[in-house]
Amino acid sequence: MSTKKVAVLPGDGIGPEVMAEARKVLDKIEESTGVTFEYNQALVGGAAWDEYKEHLPESTLETCRNCDAILFGSVGGPVKEQNSEKWSGVEVNSLLGLRKAFELYANLRPAKLFPSLAFASSLREDISQKGFDLLVVRELTGGIYFGQPKGRDGEGASEKAFDTMVYSRKEVRRIAEMAFEVARKRNQKVTSIDKANVLTTMVFWRKVVEEVAAEYPDVEYEPMYVDNAAMQLTKNPQQFDVLLCGNMFGDILSDEAAALTGSLGLLPSASLAEGSFGMYEPSGGSAPDIAGTGKANPIAQILSAAMMLRYSFDMEDSAQKIEHSVNSVLEQGYRTADIYTDGDKKVTTQEMGDLIVEILDL
Ligand code: NAD
Repeated sequence: MSTKKVAVLPGDGIGPEVMAEARKVLDKIEESTGVTFEYNQALVGGAAWDEYKEHLPESTLETCRNCDAILFGSVGGPVKEQNSEKWSGVEVNSLLGLRKAFELYANLRPAKLFPSLAFASSLREDISQKGFDLLVVRELTGGIYFGQPKGRDGEGASEKAFDTMVYSRKEVRRIAEMAFEVARKRNQKVTSIDKANVLTTMVFWRKVVEEVAAEYPDVEYEPMYVDNAAMQLTKNPQQFDVLLCGNMFGDILSDEAAALTGSLGLLPSASLAEGSFGMYEPSGGSAPDIAGTGKANPIAQILSAAMMLRYSFDMEDSAQKIEHSVNSVLEQGYRTADIYTDGDKKVTTQEMGDLIVEILDL
């Protein structure tokens, strides 16, 4: 019997509510696998500020260091209070702080459109009705967001600002290897996104990705310019399995893909370090507008827990069981408020969690 240590960071807003449902699901998995999850809860975001006047206190980092993975809720307060002492910089301090502390270099964001939820998509009906299931693998710690030098210089008409896009062979190789490894467990296709027609960094990116692709003859490889990819996502998202992207293009395309599903409350994400350590969190924010009302959709948090089982704990069967339960509950017409339309069976956050656990039992 093995023990997996999970740092549980519920955060703010709906974070604690949806986290409670993910814990219920993990408890059920414990029963059927004999694996024990040891939960170590810690404060982050505004909740940590109230106690420590810091968004990411050292005690929380220490808890995370002593664990095998982090299950994160969300942080942040109402948008109109963004400039207050408590909420100012909360996302950057908490999320970038954790990414930096644990060198989380790979961001995995699945975007899945369930055919039963096609109405929520912004896509044309004939496209959305086919559903889609893709995964954006985004490099998270390099590229133009972190490249040096960056800055501003000069005055008047000659004042200028600049950033540097830079990638090393090591950085491109490790994110490409991650994408190809992940594709092996999915539909064996990697589309690598670049701008090799204009940017030298991207010519290099394509060259290194091609080298890695040659080591994975079982995985189909296709390069695509980022402008074309942005368009193809709206015209034919079904063609994609894994989209491999640098930091900036991944930032933009993963949000576009998420928007096409139309439902933030369903989308999980993972940020992975080398080895098996990772942080798992919903793609959405703390949704202060609905906190405490029972309207939050817990599915993104539950699917984040499933990703944790897959990528940090090597528990593929259990991850698939959870995903299957989520699919079944949606197919049976159960909906939280965010995805409800007339004729559906409306349920609260807690009821949705209970239904998913119930199906896991079957
Ligand atoms: P948001 O994602 O919190 O909410 C956007 C809309 O989606 C809201 O109408 C909300 O009710 C809805 N929504 C989001 N998740 C939902 C869920 N699970 N179930 C049902 N509905 C859901 O974005 P926002 O309103 O722009 O930001 C609110 C706060 O969240 C801000 O403080 C922002 O900084 C923070 N934020 C945090 C993260 C994070 O922790 N990773 C990410 C994005 C935003």
